[in-house]
Amino acid sequence: LNSPFARDIAHHIHPQTNLRRHEAEGPLLIERGDGVYVVDADGKRLLEGMAGLWCASLGFSETRLVDAATRQMRRLPYMQTFAHRSFDPVVELSAELVGMAPAPMSKALFACSGSEANDTAMKLVWYYHHAIGRPEKRKIISRRRSYHGTTIASASLTGLANMHQDFNLPLAGVVHVTCPHHYREGLAGETEEDFAARLAAELEEVIEREGPETIGAFIAEPVMGTGGVVVPPRTYFERVQAVLRRHDILIIADEVICGFGRTGNMWGSQTYGIKPDIVTCAKGLSAAYFPISATLVSQAIYDAMLAESDKLGNFSHGFTYGGHPVGAAVARETLAIYRERDIVGHVRRVAPRLQDGLRRLSDHRLVGEVRGVGLMAAIELTMDKAARKPFPAERKVAGHLAGAIHRRGVLLRGLGDALMLSPPLIIEDAEIDVILSAVAESLDETQ
Ligand code: PLP
Repeated sequence: LNSPFARDIAHHIHPQTNLRRHEAEGPLLIERGDGVYVVDADGKRLLEGMAGLWCASLGFSETRLVDAATRQMRRLPYMQTFAHRSFDPVVELSAELVGMAPAPMSKALFACSGSEANDTAMKLVWYYHHAIGRPEKRKIISRRRSYHGTTIASASLTGLANMHQDFNLPLAGVVHVTCPHHYREGLAGETEEDFAARLAAELEEVIEREGPETIGAFIAEPVMGTGGVVVPPRTYFERVQAVLRRHDILIIADEVICGFGRTGNMWGSQTYGIKPDIVTCAKGLSAAYFPISATLVSQAIYDAMLAESDKLGNFSHGFTYGGHPVGAAVARETLAIYRERDIVGHVRRVAPRLQDGLRRLSDHRLVGEVRGVGLMAAIELTMDKAARKPFPAERKVAGHLAGAIHRRGVLLRGLGDALMLSPPLIIEDAEIDVILSAVAESLDETQ
C-alpha cells in the first residue's frame, strides 16, 4: 500500500465509475496541467479533449486565475451571503451575469455545482407558483438522455436510466419526453423539421394528459452534453417554446455545459433562440478553477419571491458556500479573460477545423453520424450504417474507442455508442489536428 495507485484502490470511491473494473485496473493518476494537456504519473502528456468534464475552458495552466484566487484568499477567504452579507466579487459577478444573460434576467443566486443550480431552479419553480397562488403547478418536464446533475432532484430531472435505477428515482412529478435525437429517434425519411413538429405535438399531448395546471416548468440543455452531444433538430426550440408559452409553463435553460462560449455564442440559448425564464450555469463560469454555479431568474420570478419574503419573513434557501468569495473572484477573472481574448470569436474561428475534420470521418464503416456545434461534438458509432444499428450495450464500443485514443495521447469520453469531444475553448488548430489524427487512427484499429 505504498503507492498512490494502490492507496487509491484501497480507500477511494470514484463517482460515475465501474467500481469492479476500478479494483482491477486502478486509477489514471494525473500529476499536473499544461495548457490543453495534462501529464500523468508516468510523465505522459495527454491532450484533454473533454476539458475535464466539459469545464476547463481555459485549459490547465491559466496563472491569472491562480492569482485571482490567491489575492481573494489573502483578502477575504470566506464570507457567507446569508442574511444580507455581501462583498465585492459577488456583487460585481451578479451584475455581470445579469447583464450578459441570454434573456432579460433580474437577479443571480449562487451555489457550488450545476446540480445545486438545477435543484435551486426546481425549488424556485415551486416557490414561484406557490407565491402566485397556484401551488399545484409543480411538475417538471425534462427529456430522455438529458443530464442535469446527480442530487436527488437533479438526477430526477436527468433522463438517463442508469442514474435512476436502484436509487428509486425519478421523484414523482418529473415527466420525461422524447429526446430530440434525429439520428436515433427520427423515423425513416423524416426531416429534421418534421421530427421537431412531431416532438412538439408529443409535448403538447403530454401536457394535456398531465393537465397544464399541474406543470410548472420545462428544463432543457440547449445541446445535450452527456447524453451524446445531441444537437436539436432545426425548428425544435421554436416549436417547443410555442407549446410551453401556450400553457404558461416556465422554461429553464440548463447552460451548465453550453454557457460561456461552448457552442460559438456566449450562451447555447442564443445559438438556438431559447428565451428562458431561468438560466442555470456552472463549469465554464470559473473555467473549473473553483466550484461555483449560478441560477439566474427573470423579473416576474423575482417579484414573486419578493412578495413571499413579506409573507414568510425570509427566502429560506441557500448553501454555506453559495457565492463563495474565492469562486466569485475566479469567475470574474474568467469572464474578463473571455472578453479580452474574445473567446467566442476564437471558438468560431477554430470550430470548423474540428467539426469539418470529424465530418471527414463520416464515410468510415463504423461511423453512423458526426454531429456537433462550436467546440462540442460526437461521433455516433454503428454496427450497420444503412440500418443505423446500434452496438449491443455490453460491447461498450465508444469506451473502447476512447481507450485506443488514450493510448495515442488524447483523452476523450465514450458513452454507449457516442464518442464525445469537448476540448478547452483555448485550443488551437494544431492541437485540434492531434485530436483528429488520434480519432482517425483509432477508428481504423477498431473492429
Ligand atoms: N447540467 C449539465 C448540462 C451538466 O452537464 C452537468 C454536469 O455534467 C450538470 C448539470 C451537473 O453539474 P455538477 O456536476 O457540477 O453538479
